[in-house]
Amino acid sequence: MLEITGETVKKENSTVTVEEAIELILNSIKPLSGEKVSILEADGRALYEDIVSNIDIPPLDNSAMDGYAVIAQDTKGASKENPIKLSVTGEIQAGGDYLDKIVKSGTAVRIMTGAPIPKGADAVIMVEYTSEESDIVSIFRDVKKGENIRLAGEDIRKDSVVLTKGERLKSADIGLLASLNYKSVMVYRSPDVAIISTGDEIAEIGEDISPGQIRNSNSYTLYSDLKRYNAIPHYLGIARDTFEETKEKFIQALKCDIILTTGGVSMGKYDFVKDVIADLGIEIMFSWIRMKPGRPCIFGTMGNKLFFGLPGNPVSTMISFVQFVRPAILRMMGAERIKKPVVSAILREDIRKKPDRTNFIRGIFTVEDGEFYVTTTGLQGSGILSSMSVANCLIIIPQGIASVDAGDRVSIQLIYHEELA
Ligand code: AMP
Ligand code: MG
Repeated sequence: MLEITGETVKKENSTVTVEEAIELILNSIKPLSGEKVSILEADGRALYEDIVSNIDIPPLDNSAMDGYAVIAQDTKGASKENPIKLSVTGEIQAGGDYLDKIVKSGTAVRIMTGAPIPKGADAVIMVEYTSEESDIVSIFRDVKKGENIRLAGEDIRKDSVVLTKGERLKSADIGLLASLNYKSVMVYRSPDVAIISTGDEIAEIGEDISPGQIRNSNSYTLYSDLKRYNAIPHYLGIARDTFEETKEKFIQALKCDIILTTGGVSMGKYDFVKDVIADLGIEIMFSWIRMKPGRPCIFGTMGNKLFFGLPGNPVSTMISFVQFVRPAILRMMGAERIKKPVVSAILREDIRKKPDRTNFIRGIFTVEDGEFYVTTTGLQGSGILSSMSVANCLIIIPQGIASVDAGDRVSIQLIYHEELA
């Protein structure tokens, strides 16, 4: 049984639930402006405009097979034993001349996949059901009218909206843009995001380290997560635990659209982030969330700039990123769809927790006979970064619930749901 302990959350004015936090964040965001980028650089970016087609795709009725363009009526009753013979009057290659080719009763035109259907023909017989000798083709099977013909506009109709504003482009969309002759496309600008780590105990990669110190991991998990969402990370280094150094980093960070700090937001004597925010006039919207891990988490705004003071513990940093920073980035870069999928799964162990918060428990889901099952990753300490490494989902146990048992259905949020084994 997994038992998650912790003290009871005290009620403060700036304490919010997870849902309230997301609403406050999304309501304070104004999407960024648009920019033109090459379609080769557009993957994952959100469209700044609807894409309307000015052509039919395919532009002409064309053949879906290699074979012969015929009049379907002419092939009626054809079989292997009683083939019907048609005289071949020409040939059309994909991309070749077609205007001068005409199919009349008793004739056929040799045709390749993708080539336009000649005038008069209303079907294509596959080459596999034919045999040709001296410009006479024997047809071994009948075809129905329209068979093996791809109709003009069956993929995309002229004047139709092919892709809508706010859609995040994926490979098929990039292909559609190419089909429509777009070399570049208007997308929302990606936010510039400053990353600042705080703490006297934090050592940078490669630095000498004393026994009391820990390596900076947060800046790198955030950097990687930001890239995943097409934001532009700017890593500003570690601010030592003084007001002056923290403020200096903040001033550099104000060039960016979003500022992320990690650590320095608890109640400790050396937690200076709050003081600096107050000094710079950043308006705090909340500073405590009824969740675990990740309770101390500050969100503030300054004009259109967003500030997130993420908790320092590595798992808290990551879970706060997924729940709050990720949707903020997506909304800022114009994306319409911002929710991670949540599905129902059968829990494989008992879980006990405090009811006054939402818990995000690192889990591993499997799919067996089409059903989702989930186990926890074990110890849930907010410093156990390796648990995030093995997790592929978060088990969400909402506020108000203190226990769930093996066999119960729980909601799981699919955070790393790419390929499964
Ligand atoms: P704080 O909120 O500053 O007290 O930080 C809480 C804990 O998070 C610290 O005790 C550190 O162990 C850890 N921590 C803070 N910043 C980082 C970081 N950049 N990388 C890894 N761990 C960190
Ligand atoms: Mg600290």
